[in-house]
Amino acid sequence: MKKILLILTLIFAFAAQVFALEIVEPADKSSSVYSDSTHVYGTVNPESTVHINSQKVKVWKDFFVHSIPLKMGNNKITITETKKNGAKKTKVINITRMEEPKEEVQPFIAKEPHTIWTAKTIKDYAPVREKASGKSNRVIDLPKGIVLYLSGKQGDYYKIEETGETEFWINKNLISTPTLTDCRMPITISAPEKSYDNLYDYTKFAISYPVLYTIKQNDKTLKLTLYGVYGGPEAEKRNLEYTYNSKDTILGYDGVYSNGDFVFKTAKTPVIKNPDKPLEGLRIFIDAGHGGKDTGAMGPTKIPEKKFNLAIALKLIDLLQKEEGAIVSYSRNTDVFVDLYKRVDLAKQNDALISVSIHNNSLPQGENPYIKHGTGTYYYNYNAKNVALTIKNNLVTDLKLKDDGLNYKSLVLDRATDPVSTLIEVAYLTYPEEYMLLQEDKFQMEAADSIRKSLREFILTVQAKK
Ligand SMILES: [Zn+2]
Repeated sequence: MKKILLILTLIFAFAAQVFALEIVEPADKSSSVYSDSTHVYGTVNPESTVHINSQKVKVWKDFFVHSIPLKMGNNKITITETKKNGAKKTKVINITRMEEPKEEVQPFIAKEPHTIWTAKTIKDYAPVREKASGKSNRVIDLPKGIVLYLSGKQGDYYKIEETGETEFWINKNLISTPTLTDCRMPITISAPEKSYDNLYDYTKFAISYPVLYTIKQNDKTLKLTLYGVYGGPEAEKRNLEYTYNSKDTILGYDGVYSNGDFVFKTAKTPVIKNPDKPLEGLRIFIDAGHGGKDTGAMGPTKIPEKKFNLAIALKLIDLLQKEEGAIVSYSRNTDVFVDLYKRVDLAKQNDALISVSIHNNSLPQGENPYIKHGTGTYYYNYNAKNVALTIKNNLVTDLKLKDDGLNYKSLVLDRATDPVSTLIEVAYLTYPEEYMLLQEDKFQMEAADSIRKSLREFILTVQAKK
């Protein structure tokens, strides 16, 4: 029996040696794209040579990464691995490059005059946008049950009424079927009532039903607007505006509806007692991107992004807890799937002051892996810009990586205004040298330590004035 097992093992080991060529990206043998180039990467035997469309490409250890220009129409890409003994193996990919379709502009259909058109949000985190397009900026993510008054429709979007100079739009799939009535629902709102606890300051308004609100930050000022809260068509000013001024840097802030109240909350700026341990007792949320069935990007030798994210996150969690005495919560500490919005909910439920989401990058088609790589951070709200910048600068210096920028981008994990939310793309799986570094324990540790250092620096610059 033992002998048979040994022979079987040898056969499998031998078979694996013979044909290593595997194309990891593009994942499909035939696909259609709009981009003018594509990158191809995959696994080969360590001592093989690789040709793509007869051009010899560099083999890194046991994989290759290459970028190829695409012409309009069909592009046949032939990848050949030649082993040391001369044996060849070829794989063919067909990519069709297409003309990008132009977005058709739909006409605007206004509601009938003297009628009221109303609907409610039916999902949490329902985005209100600046234009009638999913690509336009988000104004705010609304919870379920918000009453909206609409003035018209354009394509899949409804325009929200009485928002002043700016336009607000919401997708039809996020609201109940709009209904026509003759009058608005009567509404009352109380004067603001203030309270606080250890972590937040609160300003509470008792309100008849939940309405649209926005909160805008301008450095140390927050402007809350509650829309349409003063009744009657003759009311001169329908919106309630409330200004919050802070002497300290503004950290997390949010608006929530709770038991008939609208609660506007702002996180307290920490008072640092021990400058050697500035993160002591602070609540930090660490999110290891992807997990379980969601692998994230796939490296040229099929190591998934989720694995690198978790490795760095675990090291960072450990450093923050043991060395810094921070109160750390996290989305996952094993290889499990966690829904994106569940991660945001977890950060909020744990009253985190800062949320850091850890990812590693890959490239979309059309970009050259040898040109675009390095370390980059992401923010969406002004209150996270500084922490994102500090982390990026330190990672570039400490890990000696190319600067991939401080990026303004709407992502689920950088969109919340409370906690202060940032997302990090430590390095690129599509850049060979970074992909090899990511597999090193030492590099993962240096990344974690650089992020820890950045959080210390950030909190020291924003601590409350005494
Ligand atoms: Zn990712």
